[in-house]
Amino acid sequence: DHQQQANIGVVGLAVMGSNLARNLASREGNTVAVFNRTQARTDDLVREHADAGFVASETIEDFAASLAKPRTAIIMVQAGAGTDAVIDQLADLFEEGDIIVDGGNANFHDTIRREKQLRERGLNFVGTGISGGEEGALHGPSIMPGGSAEAWETLGPILRSIAAVAEGEPCVTHVGTDGAGHFVKMVHNGIEYADMQLIAEAYDLLRRVGRHSTSEVAQIFTEWNDGDLESYLIEITAEVLKQTDADTGKPLVDVIEDQAGSKGTGVWTVQNAVGLGIPVSGIGEAVFARAVSSKPTQRAAVRKTAASRPQVQEVGEGFEDDVRAALYASKVVAYAQGFDLIIAGASEYDWDIDLGDMARIWRGGCIIRAQFLNRIVEAYEKNPDLETLLEDPYFANAVAEGDAAWRRIVGIAAASGIPAPGFSSALAYYDALSSDRLPAALVQGLRDFFGAHTYQRVDKKGTFHTLWSGDR
Ligand code: NAP
Repeated sequence: DHQQQANIGVVGLAVMGSNLARNLASREGNTVAVFNRTQARTDDLVREHADAGFVASETIEDFAASLAKPRTAIIMVQAGAGTDAVIDQLADLFEEGDIIVDGGNANFHDTIRREKQLRERGLNFVGTGISGGEEGALHGPSIMPGGSAEAWETLGPILRSIAAVAEGEPCVTHVGTDGAGHFVKMVHNGIEYADMQLIAEAYDLLRRVGRHSTSEVAQIFTEWNDGDLESYLIEITAEVLKQTDADTGKPLVDVIEDQAGSKGTGVWTVQNAVGLGIPVSGIGEAVFARAVSSKPTQRAAVRKTAASRPQVQEVGEGFEDDVRAALYASKVVAYAQGFDLIIAGASEYDWDIDLGDMARIWRGGCIIRAQFLNRIVEAYEKNPDLETLLEDPYFANAVAEGDAAWRRIVGIAAASGIPAPGFSSALAYYDALSSDRLPAALVQGLRDFFGAHTYQRVDKKGTFHTLWSGDR
């Protein structure tokens, strides 16, 4: 019998849950209760890590009984129905003030619903984003918890102890109430999609226009990782490009099927952004580029019927630097758009989210960790009310410096018949924001013509409708 020994518990002991449980157990002062529906997983974990001092239970009732009050349990099971099932079981066993944490990749709308239901029963429910995959869970992830301030009091110190550390600070903060944490995790994943698409476009241009070998491109990424672009994704791009296929001796990337998959968080990001009216075109293009790649029959059909492929442009010295500048500028745009989405979500769902803190907790543990995030931290430190990150002097200058190179690269890509939707749509977004006037005026005219949708004028106040000569 193990009455109330553990200060924290983990339910769901697949790869993420076991690693998180081990991480928790390795920290001073924690005694970790563990439970999994299929007992073999629990037995394996306890046997393989006997020194972790796990308090293991065969039933969820015993698991609940093994936790000291306020009981605090982190659920790491399959998102969706699995999570709902475990929440229901724990909610029946837990008492007022106890804390149920969902560390899975939940849809934030589910988290809002679950939090409300559990709050009505006097329980705390915390939906938390956890980024960094298996390695992060074991050695220190970036953690994005939502939920109540009351729950954060108990949970905060525990999460701080297991989070990644960047610049001496743990990569965790109380993001906001109910679904705020899972919302921010969703946007994080969307930004990750955009980052990867931009990297892929840079690689494609360096290979096909720059005519570099795969190992040369790996070397270029290694060099880039010493500058402004220093990040986990740039670092592992060089690693992936260096990998040789054992069967064929070719670069591994050349024998990987060129159809990108996704698990859905990028799609959620775009769906929610569209609903909130936020143009996250960088994330959108990344999601769409994966979808286009995964249509082999359409690709084959158009490959057959398309006009002859254009000549790949000749480029000279400085091309690689141009690609780097285009990548950096497009990345600034993608992050600016992602932060816009966080602002819009916070306003829609009534969350008080500190934008600088989001950049701060993404500096370690997670997939988009990067030097670049320090610049975002500084930007919001200087001015928490930025209209857009593009307005911050550092980023405004960075984009202005890369401006000519960015345009050259988008032009070369189009002329060479190489798709660069991330680079080109980021440039179009930047040009739209910086234009004196947009053709939206004509769109308003058309809307008024066929639908009497009315328009505003530049020279006087009011709402106007024209009796168009064709309107009869
Ligand atoms: P997973 O494959 O998503 O889920 C397997 C776990 O869920 C097993 O412990 C399984 O128990 C349990 N489970 C499923 N349905 C259940 C039910 N109805 N009742 C009780 N338990 C149920 O595991 P994972 O890859 O470790 O991921 C866990 C969570 O973390 C997921 O939400 C995932 O999206 C999220 N996440 C994963 C990563 C990653 O890199 N893998 C990164 C961040 C977040 P049994 O052993 O009994 O089948």
